[in-house]
Amino acid sequence: MITNTTNRFWFALLSVFAFILRDRRMRKWFWVPFVIIGLGFLLPQNMIIPVKGATTKSWADDSFWAYPWGTSITHKGIDIFAEKGKAVVASTHGIVIYTYEGGKGGKSVMVLGPKWRFHYYAHLDEIKTFPLKPVKRGSILGTVGDTGNAKGKPPHLHYAITTPFPYFHLKDSVAVHGWKKMFYLDPDIWLRKK
Ligand SMILES: [Zn+2]
Repeated sequence: MITNTTNRFWFALLSVFAFILRDRRMRKWFWVPFVIIGLGFLLPQNMIIPVKGATTKSWADDSFWAYPWGTSITHKGIDIFAEKGKAVVASTHGIVIYTYEGGKGGKSVMVLGPKWRFHYYAHLDEIKTFPLKPVKRGSILGTVGDTGNAKGKPPHLHYAITTPFPYFHLKDSVAVHGWKKMFYLDPDIWLRKK
């Protein structure tokens, strides 16, 4: 599939169904995961810019899906520039799925938010949260840095939103990697509203 998170999400969901369907007495509960997924889509999403003190001028208009973009080919998020050490906060409420150190993202945090959207915060200087921690809009996740492949570039937060449920109307037949736009949402759309 598209991202590791999407892969793991579908693996977990299918495992739940397999678990329910293999036991005769459990089968009558097969609708429960559907209801939980439906409820997740109903949760309201109110977003804030995930860097303290940042404004809509802190990232470039064409940051999302910029091309060419090194080994990633296209840039599947936005880069919010700020001084090193500025607080990185959760853009929406949710739960921290994992924190990670290594690879292109350097120190990074993944938060599952409303509507089954995964919010990815990368290149952090410091991680200040932990897996399974519930977060509110504005909860501190870490600080802005230049870890991973941001090394040697001005410190910034790479912020991306992915969805394991494809949004077919976002498919782009012109852009490079355009079909992947079904799985990557442009944070700009929600951050610029306020
Ligand atoms: Zn980036």
